[in-house]
Amino acid sequence: MLRVFHVIFRPASQDERGGTPNFQFTMYSLPEKFKQRMQERLGKDYPAFLASYGLPPVKGLRVNALKLTPQEFSALAAEDFSLRGPFTEDKNGFYAEGERLGAHPYHFAGLFYLQEPSAMKVGDLTLHRKKERVLDLCAAPGGKTTHIATQMGGEGVLIANEIDYKRAKILTENVERMGIRNCAVLSSDPGTLARKFPEYFDLVLADAPCSGEGMFKKEPSAIPEWSEENVAMCAARQKKILGCAAQMVCEGGAILYSTCTFSEEEDEWQVADFLKEHADFSLVAMHKLYPHTFEGEGHFMALLEKTSAPLSLSEARHRPFAILKNTSAERAFSAFCADFFGGPLCGNIHTLADGRMYLVPDGMPDLTGASLLRLGVELGAWDGKLFKPAHALAMAFGTRAKRKISLTREEAKRYLRGETLPCDAENGWTAVCVDGYPLGLGKAVNGVMKNHFPKSLRLRMK
Ligand code: SAM
Repeated sequence: MLRVFHVIFRPASQDERGGTPNFQFTMYSLPEKFKQRMQERLGKDYPAFLASYGLPPVKGLRVNALKLTPQEFSALAAEDFSLRGPFTEDKNGFYAEGERLGAHPYHFAGLFYLQEPSAMKVGDLTLHRKKERVLDLCAAPGGKTTHIATQMGGEGVLIANEIDYKRAKILTENVERMGIRNCAVLSSDPGTLARKFPEYFDLVLADAPCSGEGMFKKEPSAIPEWSEENVAMCAARQKKILGCAAQMVCEGGAILYSTCTFSEEEDEWQVADFLKEHADFSLVAMHKLYPHTFEGEGHFMALLEKTSAPLSLSEARHRPFAILKNTSAERAFSAFCADFFGGPLCGNIHTLADGRMYLVPDGMPDLTGASLLRLGVELGAWDGKLFKPAHALAMAFGTRAKRKISLTREEAKRYLRGETLPCDAENGWTAVCVDGYPLGLGKAVNGVMKNHFPKSLRLRMK
């Protein structure tokens, strides 16, 4: 039998934190059964679909509207990035070309998030929805969390949950890099959250684990894992996740269900099955993007609104987050703020017994029983005498710092690699910036800037 191979660009290396993969030409064989199913589904459009596998994966970036406007970014990025767009309704999504975009200082400064373009289109469905309480149920590495956070503009409460603890840590890094202040990162299973938050959220994102048919080019390792059995297993898991999501939506709220796969079992049939079993929900919108119909790798999305009255008086069961006060720690933090910002940083300060301090957004619910990785903005740690600021503080509030060191892009790379740099700033903690945007913290001591960029995030030599 003649075996037909489709040329797929394979990522030679990939940075899970959102770095740009380098592509090399490799031959991959798409599963025959997959091709047969797609042919049955797409009919005359099938050749165009198949031809898309001969093209390199489409790359995109989303400008972080929490830090700057797309116009500001375009002006800054003109030298190093080739941008096309915007193509999202919020005007932040662009097609992007450029060398190692994930290693660019602007990436470390949280000015953009690298995201597959069709995944970004999910945000069009949430743009005009109420977003006072939002849950991202399957959130790592953080594409949709960071997107919805820009749409929330720092208002309301965002809970980003990722069942896999290691992936939840990467999610945390991305949330911090983007300077998001109103988010708690959890690592719990959907069932635990469903019991904890009945009818609580205006919006629940369920970007469910799937058979990844739209990821074959970006992650060719998904190809040998594909089978009809795996599709069925994913569909059963998605059904459970959707069932949990349904329990957590309040009246008038919605679930945004999405996958990066094309199988009907996981997409249209999953939605139909959900609606059959949840008479209190109705379908508001449903879109399927194929690589031959939209310039991207493909995505499925459905917005499901809860129309009927809540079954219980759940509001009464939701307690607010209990803030732990520590006067001595807060005094040390105030002294730091007077020096670093030239004034106070207002908000609810929560201090753990070990001295770690957080700025908790208004409206944060009680999170007891959930596995909590990150709460609002990590401010730093108090050791009983001194307050030491956290990297997250610089990423969320660094632009307000009184003392800033401005680095060129080349110096910024040296800072990101962990090097000590000469500086003429007065002694003390300082925000370290590129083009006015904070990359992290440094401590100026007699003409030298000690590097406080976290070791775990450092830029590796190429
Ligand atoms: N929303 C993410 C983004 O935009 O960057 C991508 C999410 S990815 C498609 C699906 C996630 O669901 C994975 O991170 C995976 O670890 C998680 N997951 C796997 N099994 C799960 C389960 N049973 N319940 C909830 N989440 C699960």
